[in-house]
Amino acid sequence: MANTDTISTEQRLGAGNYKPLDVVLARGSGVWLWDVHGNQYLDCLAAYSAVNQGHCHPKIRETLVEQSAKLTLPSRAFRDDRLAAFYQDLCKLTNSHKVLVMNSGTEAVETAIKCARKWGYLVKGVPEDKAEIIVCDNNFHGRSIAIVGFSSSANSRADFGPFAPGFRSVPFGDAAALEAAINPNTVAFLAEPIQGEGGVVIPPDGFLRRARELCDARNVLLVLDEVQTGLGRTGRILAEEHEGVEADITTVGKSLGGGFYPISAVLASEEVLSLLKPGQHGSTFGGNPLATAVARTALRVLREEGMVENAAEQGEYFLRELRGLRSNAVREVRGRGLMMAVELHSREGGATPWCESLRRHGVLAKETHGDVIRFSPPLVITRDEVDWALERIRRAFSEVD
Ligand SMILES: *Cc1c(COP(=O)(O)O)cnc(C)c1O
Repeated sequence: MANTDTISTEQRLGAGNYKPLDVVLARGSGVWLWDVHGNQYLDCLAAYSAVNQGHCHPKIRETLVEQSAKLTLPSRAFRDDRLAAFYQDLCKLTNSHKVLVMNSGTEAVETAIKCARKWGYLVKGVPEDKAEIIVCDNNFHGRSIAIVGFSSSANSRADFGPFAPGFRSVPFGDAAALEAAINPNTVAFLAEPIQGEGGVVIPPDGFLRRARELCDARNVLLVLDEVQTGLGRTGRILAEEHEGVEADITTVGKSLGGGFYPISAVLASEEVLSLLKPGQHGSTFGGNPLATAVARTALRVLREEGMVENAAEQGEYFLRELRGLRSNAVREVRGRGLMMAVELHSREGGATPWCESLRRHGVLAKETHGDVIRFSPPLVITRDEVDWALERIRRAFSEVD
């Protein structure tokens, strides 16, 4: 099918819940993508950080192919020979006690919410159906009814109600507001260490540490959603490490599947995860051997190939150079590791014309939150590739200005 046919067929038959750039991709390798005409692009989105290991990583692919010929879905009604090793590797890497495996990031967050509520009733002693969870304005935790119910994005919520009660929202990064919102029925504080979809918003230094102290003092669980920030993106395995904080519940997903297979997980203490009894939670595909085999290799290459350290090193350089962009359109440049953003001054049409220009110059990036362009390439990016990207970004910006 020709390019335009593909696009019109998609538009005719598909739901309209995405507005992609009109580039039809056919191949990927490392940080590079190619469209159906053979044009090459440097991927600065990395599938919203689900491809930290780079496109079609050969070792992860080998595991996928091998495991797909052995056993893929025996179901959790039986045991399989892959799950235990995955638990071991993930716990070791993230310094966690226990794991609950799901598929999508949304499900991991839903699961974390269920666990926090159960802990609230069974351990903290909150009266039946009174549990409250504090979340942050401008959050993104997924698209389920419960989760969009506490979103502050009107577009994500509109016409989807009624929503689940039991959530209240405070400004992100505001420890005093958090403190004031905690009451005896508060079971958890749920936040992203850096807000991803909200536009790569970094809280003030010390915020997570202060949140940890408040949660300790008031017997509240600290739940950090690291679905996007986790697994090396910010230059550490988990972003919470930047502040030396350990959450009670951490969610990971996206890159856990190395860009090949959806898998997510809830990491928590014995105290929290031992509260779930057989039949109280689950998922048909959650923790299947294809997923866990792929995830183990995805974690292994992250470590073995120094991707986390590389994210710190290249991110520092990339960010410094982005800060040097000479453009009147730029309002702020921010980031940590390879999770970076250029925020533009607000104007009609937002950042879309810049993303279009970037595409014409061979860099694929997408606006988030209207005026923000996120730059989050795969963590395998080399210095030469960063320079290549920067050169194109400078040209694209000078063209739109
Ligand atoms: C992407 C994301 C999710 C949702 O993950 P899905 O796999 O799309 O369900 C949840 N939380 C955060 C922080 C995310 O970035």
